[in-house]
Amino acid sequence: MSKPILVIGGGFSGITAALEAAEVGYEVYIVEKTPYLGGRVAQLNKYFPKLCPPSCGLEIQFQRIKKNPRVKFFTMAEVTKVSGQAGDYNVSIRINPRHTAPANADLSAIAETLDGETSNEFNFGLDKRKGLYKDMPFAFPARYVVDKTACTEDDLNKVAASQYVDLNEEAKNIELSVGSIVLATGWKPYDVTKLTNLGAGEVPNCVTNMQMERIAAPNGPTKGQIVRPSDGKAPKKICFVQCAGSRDQNHLNYCSYICCMASLKQALYVREQYPDAECTVYYIDMRTPERYDKFRRRALEDEKINLVKGKVAGVEADPSGDVIVEVEDAVRGIKKKVRYDMVVLATGMQPSLAGAKLPFDVPVDEEGFITGGEEKGIFTAGCAKKPLDVMKSAQSGTGAALKAIQTVRGR
Ligand code: SF4
Repeated sequence: MSKPILVIGGGFSGITAALEAAEVGYEVYIVEKTPYLGGRVAQLNKYFPKLCPPSCGLEIQFQRIKKNPRVKFFTMAEVTKVSGQAGDYNVSIRINPRHTAPANADLSAIAETLDGETSNEFNFGLDKRKGLYKDMPFAFPARYVVDKTACTEDDLNKVAASQYVDLNEEAKNIELSVGSIVLATGWKPYDVTKLTNLGAGEVPNCVTNMQMERIAAPNGPTKGQIVRPSDGKAPKKICFVQCAGSRDQNHLNYCSYICCMASLKQALYVREQYPDAECTVYYIDMRTPERYDKFRRRALEDEKINLVKGKVAGVEADPSGDVIVEVEDAVRGIKKKVRYDMVVLATGMQPSLAGAKLPFDVPVDEEGFITGGEEKGIFTAGCAKKPLDVMKSAQSGTGAALKAIQTVRGR
């Protein structure tokens, strides 16, 4: 009998690692800090390589989890302590209260009656959510969460009246004994408020690429209609700013790999909705590796998608709601200011662990990417190791699962 494998992080790479190990017979635990599995992919409108909506790939994964009793998962949970060695780890987990009973009850009718609201982190602050919420229609598990801090007194009385709500539920601490650990802790968008020359998140119609994914998503704040956040106006002229924070010694000192493709993809979102809209992408280098080069050529067949080699030096708000972009055109050697309806910053990927205090002992580089741990039976999958697309994240999840299996089998 082998000890179970612990997977920390329930995004695409973590789910893949867990399923690959479980489907060849190993017990697996997934620990996910948010209320739902799916990670960043769940926040996208469409993802490469096939430009599917996230529900398509994730629902297959969720079905596989539901059918496999060897996968157990904890959401709203975090690892607080790890001790032991390869093949024999004790792990302490804290599970934060969800306040809804273990049933997939539809609490939407109650949620609609609540008054309290808070910034919606799933939509990157583009709208508000209630104190009783479910992030997305295909959320897994399909259980609502009560956020008491976002509820008024009246709200708390309303939710407490439901048989599916327990406002007295408290955090639990549990201990797991596992043989190996897969770290699939993922990434976070770089903090846009640090990009002071690009508006520092203060220019209403200058959004990040992840905000653009939520705006374009049918389950997003505008139900998929691409409009300006400030006034709901349909944009006719959109600018994409590449390397916003990436490849910059003062911010992320590396290429974030996916954001050139993401901007081209988002330019196509715009063009599908607005046949007359013009998209301009300002870039330093356009990185579309391997088979993605074919996608770049396809996007550039559209004559209203223009690439301009040049660095954006500044972004400012105009009182009209437009955005003034100061750009250096590197080919023509000119600097100019151009007015756009809306700007999208191609902000980069930062490992979620950057700046965090880790409960496990693994080396990380100055950027927060995990660089080792294999000799301890701790393996890294997905963007915790380096920026990757979804397909490569899944492949790295499979690789990490194989290594974890070898550890628990004592090889
Ligand atoms: Fe810049 Fe493109 Fe690399 Fe992103 S993928 S950091 S936009 S070169």
